[in-house]
Amino acid sequence: MNERELINIVWLKRDLRLHDNEAIVNALKSEKRILLVYCFEPILLNDPHYSERHWNFIKESIVDLNKELASYNSKILAVQSDIIPTINQLLSKFRISDIYSHQETGILVTYERDKNFKRYCKNNLIQWYENINNGVQRGLKNRDGWNNMVDTFYAIEPLQFSPNEHQLITIQQIEHLEKHFNIVDLNTPEVTTFQRGGRSIGLRYLKSFFEERYPNYMFNISKPELARTSCSRISPYLAWGNLSVREVYHEAYHLKETATHKKALEAFMSRLRWQTHFIQKFEMEHTMEEASVNKGFRKLKKSISEVYKTAWETGQTGYPLVDACMRCLNETGYLNFRMRALVVSFFTHNLWQPWQEATTHLSRMFLDFEPGIHFPQLQMQAGETGVNMLRIYNPVKNSLEHDPEASFIKRWVPELENLDTPFAHQPYLMTEMEQQFYNFKLGKDYPKPIVDLEISRKNAGDALWNLRKDKTVLEESKRILRKHTLRNRFHNT
Ligand SMILES: Cc1cc2nc3c(=O)[nH]c(=O)nc-3n(C[C@H](O)[C@H](O)[C@H](O)COP(=O)(O)OP(=O)(O)OC[C@H]3O[C@@H](n4cnc5c(N)ncnc54)[C@H](O)[C@@H]3O)c2cc1C
Repeated sequence: MNERELINIVWLKRDLRLHDNEAIVNALKSEKRILLVYCFEPILLNDPHYSERHWNFIKESIVDLNKELASYNSKILAVQSDIIPTINQLLSKFRISDIYSHQETGILVTYERDKNFKRYCKNNLIQWYENINNGVQRGLKNRDGWNNMVDTFYAIEPLQFSPNEHQLITIQQIEHLEKHFNIVDLNTPEVTTFQRGGRSIGLRYLKSFFEERYPNYMFNISKPELARTSCSRISPYLAWGNLSVREVYHEAYHLKETATHKKALEAFMSRLRWQTHFIQKFEMEHTMEEASVNKGFRKLKKSISEVYKTAWETGQTGYPLVDACMRCLNETGYLNFRMRALVVSFFTHNLWQPWQEATTHLSRMFLDFEPGIHFPQLQMQAGETGVNMLRIYNPVKNSLEHDPEASFIKRWVPELENLDTPFAHQPYLMTEMEQQFYNFKLGKDYPKPIVDLEISRKNAGDALWNLRKDKTVLEESKRILRKHTLRNRFHNT
């Protein structure tokens, strides 16, 4: 190995792909050789928003990338270390000219880490280039012209990965380097209930969606069971960057020209834009991680009940659809949009718990945890933006409508499996005699409802509607609309 060769580094974060990766393409423009690095950062390994399912997904993504990189005789240096010690260690082997990564719209921990890293680079005379990712713009004060900016970004053909010969640091050199680092074992369990990470699997989901599954997209999007096959299921691949939103958009756009189900594709494409729209919102208002974006709602004082919280997290609330959703999420890492909204509504409205108490459990469980969507959606579903319609979902109405045969409920709440369908939706309606007939005891085999649905819905609705008349809430609503509303609005602000 050349001692102290001058190289460039690509620091991979939530952009685990070679294709259509602005940071990599910009790094490749220089003559220097490039080392691709991923840090399993203790600051994130120990952060309560993340869990093992995320780390396994990332490991699988890296293994998949390494397969692609093998044809260039390269691989990723995957270390367990924060970024500054990693670069310090690399500086003992190389001189480093530039570091390339994507602009991360992350949580407060990564925001602080990036500020420190910027200082570190400056002190060490290293240029750190942060590159645009998925069309989200940094430093905007409002959304004037945003649609055009995103259109322009989406219109560009996805960027190709085409390094020059010998431009990537070789496998042999990286294996030599690995001796100086805490290297991460990239093996993951052989059996899993989660979607596996990696671009090649992400592409397979996309292919089967476009070739077979998408025609029923809109019919099934709200149904807890059928949405699992009729929706694309690409969210974890977008969240961890195995796929770029632009490349997916391009494929959908081309397919639309000849497709028979154009409306389904249009609906899908508009959701891809919501992805960028929500992340943009969070980029411009990152305090949303901890506090309500509408400052007026910070007056809302809700007391925390550990009993309610545990019952909700473990799927023991006595409301079958809520319980099925929470258990299914814990086991598989996925819920469709409506069910995510419903479980948040139940927690924040019926159980009257602060949305902040739901954030870490949900982020740990959602395999596709994307801070830029997660926090704004939580606040929106909790009814604390002041600008969105207040939606209090009725879990019984939703289960009758979207799971009429109670098949999703029975799959995830097996205690209710032998009940007739109407009772599986509402076991608490069974009389003593009916319970005896089914050999089922409410309160023993399955919990009694934890709250009264109607009373809790009315109390929450009254409190939130009253607060919407508050002066600060009204002023803040105007500010939010000025800052975040698009001239040519999507349906989902
Ligand atoms: C409380 C709550 C938390 C959420 N947290 C996340 C999260 O952490 N990560 C995440 O990717 N999505 C999140 N969503 C949005 C949405 O539920 C998921 O994107 C969607 O269910 C993923 O399934 P899919 O890939 O099959 O989606 P599809 O319907 O096939 O849509 C394709 C893509 O469009 C984007 N998208 C779809 N719906 C939305 C939406 N409502 N808002 C923003 N983007 C959307 C996603 O990137 C998705 O992968 C959340 C929704 C709620 C209500």
